[in-house]
Amino acid sequence: MQLILFGPPGAGKGTQAKLIQEHYDIPQLSTGDMFRAAIKNETELGKKVKSILDSGELVPDETVVELVAETIRKPEYQKGYILDGFPRTIKQAEMYDEILKADGKELHAFVSLEVPQQELIDRITSRGEGREDDTPEKIKVRLQVYEDETSPVKAHYEKQGKLFEIDGVGTIDEIQQRIRKVLDARKS
Ligand code: ADP
Repeated sequence: MQLILFGPPGAGKGTQAKLIQEHYDIPQLSTGDMFRAAIKNETELGKKVKSILDSGELVPDETVVELVAETIRKPEYQKGYILDGFPRTIKQAEMYDEILKADGKELHAFVSLEVPQQELIDRITSRGEGREDDTPEKIKVRLQVYEDETSPVKAHYEKQGKLFEIDGVGTIDEIQQRIRKVLDARKS
């Protein structure tokens, strides 16, 4: 089961992805987490993307797609995975479609978490993860980037009949049940 978990910063993608991972026993792949790990470990990739993440802007499409392609072709991703934070541009979505096609795989569902803007800001400012991009100014940039570059990705998957919109307001458990309902109905 190849899944995309989509939504603006603060929508709860990471939280929900971890629960999906446990329930369906497929790994989560968070591009944001991978970049943060690379920065922490001071790898070549980390050095390349550090200032970009700090600014709240997007890492170049080719860099992200290369990282994702390399990862999902590993043995432990062959029975499926949950993408969290990818694709984030139309170009990334198109390149990902090509990868799936080349590998003879298909996307199961594109699940979009719907959360009002003010709630997003409240959640990010109160989550206190100490991320350098969680300051009010950077949050503003990230939400704007989302609006301009990322939100059009939804229409891309709607055209493919893969879009499922989920109300992302409620308890963690309520939202998880909503997601499972969609996924289970889609499976059978
Ligand atoms: P959030 O969704 O809360 O903004 P993420 O952890 O998903 O946080 O991403 C953090 C940062 O990592 C982004 O602001 C961006 O700089 C970079 N990033 C993550 N995924 C992508 C992607 N698919 N394309 C480009 N940049 C990305």
